[in-house]
Amino acid sequence: MFNFPLPYRDELLYSVIARYRVHQGIVSPKELLDDVYNDRKIVATVDLPSHVNKVSSLYPQREASSPVELIYSHTLFPLYAPFVDEKRRKRCINFMLKQAKGSTHLALGVAASRIKQPRWLRYCPACLIEQQNTFGEYYWSRNWQISGAESCLLHGALIDSNILRHPDHKHEYTPATHHSCQTDAKQQPSSIQSELITQSLDELLQLKPLHSPTLEQWSYFYRTLLFEHGLNRGKHIDYSRLKEKIISSFGRKWLRKYDLYPEDSEICWLKTIFRKHRKAFSYLEHLVVWHSILGSGWQVADIFKQVSLQPKENKASVTPLLDATEKDKTKYRDLWLVAVVKNGVNYARNYKFGYVYAWLYRHDRDWLLQVNNQHKVPNITKNQRIDWHKRDRHLVKLLCRIKNDIELQLDDPRHSMNWYLSKLYCGSTVGKHLNDLPLCKLFFMKFCENIAEYQIRRITCAVIAQSLSNNTLRRWQILRMSGLSDQRLTPLADTFLLRIIGI
Ligand SMILES: [Zn+2]
Repeated sequence: MFNFPLPYRDELLYSVIARYRVHQGIVSPKELLDDVYNDRKIVATVDLPSHVNKVSSLYPQREASSPVELIYSHTLFPLYAPFVDEKRRKRCINFMLKQAKGSTHLALGVAASRIKQPRWLRYCPACLIEQQNTFGEYYWSRNWQISGAESCLLHGALIDSNILRHPDHKHEYTPATHHSCQTDAKQQPSSIQSELITQSLDELLQLKPLHSPTLEQWSYFYRTLLFEHGLNRGKHIDYSRLKEKIISSFGRKWLRKYDLYPEDSEICWLKTIFRKHRKAFSYLEHLVVWHSILGSGWQVADIFKQVSLQPKENKASVTPLLDATEKDKTKYRDLWLVAVVKNGVNYARNYKFGYVYAWLYRHDRDWLLQVNNQHKVPNITKNQRIDWHKRDRHLVKLLCRIKNDIELQLDDPRHSMNWYLSKLYCGSTVGKHLNDLPLCKLFFMKFCENIAEYQIRRITCAVIAQSLSNNTLRRWQILRMSGLSDQRLTPLADTFLLRIIGI
């Protein structure tokens, strides 16, 4: 069709068809469908349209209007494609090329996603004026229609038009005009969160079609991220620190708005994204984690590069055995024996003697495994005749030792009961049997750090750092360095800042 309009940069295919309707002066929606698709049952879909082959065939043959190029440059498909596996990505492209009947939305999890799509088509008034000046008409940009990206990076917050994204007349393509959008509407400044997300989404939309990483590669990537940023506690997630990072980066209100506030439930998205991936996560979940953990100075393309370098399948890796002198072996064996006899295998390994364990595992594995087997701590829950009194005294001594060892570590995570339990070789059992362990219970009541104490410790840490660099103490700066804000500050920590630090 020689008079079918070429899409502008980032224009939705939906918008191209709506403009064609205006150019041709077609009033009836059915007539438009007949004209473009030769099929009156097509649904006018904003984000992930189907029958793209048909639209592509309206253009003379060239690369810019090839069906896949249209999908990647003029729909919201790139927001979802890299996060589903390769098989699904290809299947969805096939749905979009032909007749999808809702399958694309189902397969990409859009329909069931906790992240709700904007209700109205949205626009940036200043951009519309620029479009009018440059092209003589308005068009719907795809960048304006994404949940989480609430702003135009150049001009400010987006504004709702009066066109529903899912209108009752589902066959109707409505253009952006001065009837649907008000270019004199006053734009609010955009929020910091929206700017971060919009910037990354712009990058994501501009990526060339890429082979999707496997779910295993995502699992490896997130595991590495956790370890590299010290957000692990042994093999596990240090969830309280992770959660705090997310909340301090995006704020409770914003996270709640998108149903992303990290809960303590085992199935919370923030926990499952750091475990073995069994399903795809949404672009917004990924972006929130990347921004919270990586800070600034990275690009979306760098992340995909890193993910693509991860192993594609879950292969059990075997650490090769290294040579060592008898003298070294004796040295490490002696160290380990003392540690294990005193503390048990798990405690020795996770706390203080990890390096001895690692050395022996690499150089003297058979001996290590044999010794560990002899010093296994009996499973408390299975032993009905356990001497709780004896265990209570033993454990409380361990807890006191942990407390003394960490007393001076000001930059540690909060020393909550769970934190102490994580340092014990049998923490989960202790947690369940607190009533049988009165001394441990007393220890936790007396020594666990509450939120106010933890805030004061962080403030102290920041004050020391500032004083050592001879910087003047400013309240906002100390709060920022401690990852706190006036809203989150407990009354006790507030008093500490005012009366003791004097700011
Ligand atoms: Zn704009």
